Amino acid sequence: MNSTCDPLPAQALRAEADDAVFERAYVEGLLRDRESLWHALFAQSRDGVVVLDENGKVYETNQRFADLLGYTMDEMYQLHVWDWAHGPSPEELRAMIREIGDDGHHFETQQVRKDGSLVDIELSNSRTFFRGQKLIFCICRDITARKAAERRIRYLATTDTLTGASNRGEFSRRLAEEIARAHQHGTPLGLVMFDLDHFKRINDGYGHDVGDTVLRGVTGVVRENVRLGDVIGRWGGEEFMLLLPKSDLAITLAVAERLRASIEARHFEPVERVTASFGVVVLAQGEGFDALVKRADVALYRAKSAGRNRVETVSGD
Ligand code: GH3
Ligand code: MG
Ligand code: MG
Repeated sequence: MNSTCDPLPAQALRAEADDAVFERAYVEGLLRDRESLWHALFAQSRDGVVVLDENGKVYETNQRFADLLGYTMDEMYQLHVWDWAHGPSPEELRAMIREIGDDGHHFETQQVRKDGSLVDIELSNSRTFFRGQKLIFCICRDITARKAAERRIRYLATTDTLTGASNRGEFSRRLAEEIARAHQHGTPLGLVMFDLDHFKRINDGYGHDVGDTVLRGVTGVVRENVRLGDVIGRWGGEEFMLLLPKSDLAITLAVAERLRASIEARHFEPVERVTASFGVVVLAQGEGFDALVKRADVALYRAKSAGRNRVETVSGD
């Protein structure tokens, strides 16, 4: 064997070593590429992203989330989830972090900005393990505009635009709900139906715009005279309903009489005098929606026939 004339093994070894170096550099390059790709996705996401550690502290986040809450990135790394979560206590949030499993959660919530204002958020979270540590990965989408649009649509669908009272559909829904609740809990429920007197004369004498102003003004007077939980509805034209949960006949009659006197006493410029007639009923045992409304209508009709600007009732027994 002529080993001195055989340089191949050394060359081969060197070539192999070069291959290994090249391969390592290549793999490291790939990893760096992937890392920068993930970093870019994370940093440039249109959604806020925040990763929490097991203690609820910020482990990683992106600029979008910091902007959403109004903090700098440096400030973000000092925060815990309870610094921005609206509603749950730190203990409840810790329990939530413990409970997050493989499936994670998806829900709508609100978060508190640095300046104390609230932002509507759609949140998706999931759990992951990284270097032996449990991390919670949260994607936070700002849905403030969508929630505002939903509130606006809901307002338009449930409110009478002229007076701001509940519209007939919404009032009916609330009335049905309160009837069911009253029967279930055995609590009284008062209902007042009222209608402006000779309203046609106001329209004819002063014009339709003045008529509209009177309708708005009367609704204002009613609002001043009822509790927050009472529901004012525009039943049609110049006919209104007032729903008084947990109110018996004596209370409902007193409220109706107060409204009658307040409307009569109020001056709705330039109209000389505005009055209304009232039908008052309280829910009878086992009574349904239609029967109750019919009785209120009969009571109102009585008030009209008895001379207007008065309160009448029809018993349900
Ligand atoms: P009564 O005392 O018997 O209730 O007489 P009234 O004139 O109030 O009753 P009537 O039902 O004859 O007329 C109601 C009028 O209300 C007729 C209608 O044009 C008017 N009206 C209904 N809706 C509106 C509205 O939104 N704006 C205005 N300005 N008028 C309305
Ligand atoms: Mg009328
Ligand atoms: Mg009418």
